[in-house]
Amino acid sequence: ATVARKSLKIGMIPADGIGREVLPGAKAAIQALGSSIPTTEFIDLQAGFECFQKTGTALPDETVEVLKNECDCALFGAVSSPSRKVFGYSSPIVALRKKMDLYANIRPVSSVAPIPNEQPTIDLVVVRENTECLYIKEETQTVGERGIETRATRLITEYASRRIGEMAFKIALTRPRKHVTIIHKSNVLSVTDGLFRETVRGVPTLPGMNGKYDGVTVAEQLVDSAVYRLFREPHIYDVMVAPNLYGDIISDAAAALVGSLGLVPSVNAGDSFVMGEPVHGSAPDIAGKDIANPLAAIRSAALMLRQFGYGNGAARIESAVDDVIREGRYLTPDLGGKSSTSEVVSQVVKRI
Ligand code: ATP
Ligand code: MG
Repeated sequence: ATVARKSLKIGMIPADGIGREVLPGAKAAIQALGSSIPTTEFIDLQAGFECFQKTGTALPDETVEVLKNECDCALFGAVSSPSRKVFGYSSPIVALRKKMDLYANIRPVSSVAPIPNEQPTIDLVVVRENTECLYIKEETQTVGERGIETRATRLITEYASRRIGEMAFKIALTRPRKHVTIIHKSNVLSVTDGLFRETVRGVPTLPGMNGKYDGVTVAEQLVDSAVYRLFREPHIYDVMVAPNLYGDIISDAAAALVGSLGLVPSVNAGDSFVMGEPVHGSAPDIAGKDIANPLAAIRSAALMLRQFGYGNGAARIESAVDDVIREGRYLTPDLGGKSSTSEVVSQVVKRI
């Protein structure tokens, strides 16, 4: 459903590490579409660990205000996550997903077929719940008889499971295979994962659905065996819907199958806002070297545009990316090439 718009205001949050290096590529790809999409305006916004070190907050109020009041959508780079607890710091991306109610993280993973228009061997979408599970970050530390004891609370609600389930079914309807696999671990976590599984399964028979999802087939799988089968027979999967943490792990695993984390895009979607974000993190091991693969960020821009109804623009960006991968001449080191981030960007832009 394309809404006719005069302009599109895009919040740009590069944040940390390679996020700063790949987001300009996403911007360049959108700009290369020229007048085939509405006039775009990019608004630079702050967030991240560096922002925290400079200003004392990882997610300034202003960033959230501008996103809510001025932007139509946004692109996010990546945040550094210190592995030890840093007092006063918590991940701005987790907070942002919550504050903007971006309850679904949609992560398509597909291989590029050697021949254009041929079926790729991996073509799936991970639909990850984005607001709860262990990410509510309620952790405690106490001292008991056996020394330090730590606990984390895991929240699964019917409400969140239902809306992520609906999102998964909706996405399945748009895909040729129309198949949903529910990922859970209800043999161990029968209450929390049991609720997730039952609720998602129940989506098609909710009042008001009127057989909308009759054409969608549903399977379910324990998360451990899902990872195993993902590596053995990835073609069996179409839409994988999962609670927050399993969704994160599964999509990194799927990324390995298509060659690099640097290829896998995502969008964080709510009912009224979308934010594109590459699946990878800030990659401190390669940051600052101009060798990060910009294709995940560029594909994230395309996904964001598609969510908005600019499917043609999205497709032009995506096929330019696919062509660059297929040609194999301009690839960053993660894909075995020697090209720089900026070189890959300019090759994509040229093809758009
Ligand atoms: P973070 O805590 O920010 O997630 P990380 O150390 O987990 O950082 P990731 O960004 O998740 O790093 O990356 C994991 C591995 O994949 C790293 O070795 C990184 O170099 C590589 N990688 C991730 N993204 C890219 C990219 N865009 N291009 C090339 N390599 C990448
Ligand atoms: Mg990581």
